[in-house]
Amino acid sequence: MIELRNLVVHYGRVAAVHDISLSFDHGINCIIGSNGAGKSTIMRSISGLVRPSSGSILFEGEAIESLTPKAIVERGIAHVPEGRHVFPELTVDENLKIGAYLRRDHVAVKRDYDNICSVFPRLAERRKQYANTLSGGEQQMLAIGRAIMAAPKLVLMDEPSMGLSPVMVAAMAEVIRSINAEGKSVLLVEQNANVALGLSVKAAVLEQGRISLQGMATDMKDNEHVRVAYIGV
Ligand code: ATP
Repeated sequence: MIELRNLVVHYGRVAAVHDISLSFDHGINCIIGSNGAGKSTIMRSISGLVRPSSGSILFEGEAIESLTPKAIVERGIAHVPEGRHVFPELTVDENLKIGAYLRRDHVAVKRDYDNICSVFPRLAERRKQYANTLSGGEQQMLAIGRAIMAAPKLVLMDEPSMGLSPVMVAAMAEVIRSINAEGKSVLLVEQNANVALGLSVKAAVLEQGRISLQGMATDMKDNEHVRVAYIGV
């Protein structure tokens, strides 16, 4: 579904991602790595927010690395950025509706809105509340809900568990499973390897902008290096 071929990304003269090749099928997949490994840079490249210096990004077989972020959303990729970035001075309702700004299928938009309200009852209760008054976990739910309103085929999720309590992390994992159960694919990047590997089919480990390991998530959980460096056992 999504493939990176020899992807290189620079900020100025400094390379943050060095010649990465990866491919993931439909379903939930993840890239794990510690601070500064380049996880967000990969996500921003896929959604068109940063331009790769070289290499290509294929989505369902089409090269998308030169498309605008708007065109990439139209192809079916939605990005839930690290740190949520909801619109603080808009209400929950307004934030959700902005997610559907490119859509003209109004009946389906209404159905998706109602569906999000049933998956996230706390958002439904807070529909008229300003986003900046929500808790961190609620803002994360809102950022995910807004991405779903774009009717994506692939949702990019940048550290969805960051800053959440263990109870909210478990709730988030259920939300990710339910998104996938609706037929959408999810690419997760996470420092929380335990959660990400538990959800994913395939996984890759990113270290200092390079892929050091990739394979099935179940095998990765048993890998000694992953256990010591990313699971803490
Ligand atoms: P974290 O988990 O801490 O968010 P990450 O794995 O997502 O880390 P990135 O945010 O992709 O890592 O950063 C990779 C490298 O690129 C880091 O060395 C970072 O300092 C650098 N970097 C990221 N954004 C920029 C930018 N806008 N300008 C310059 N350097 C940047």
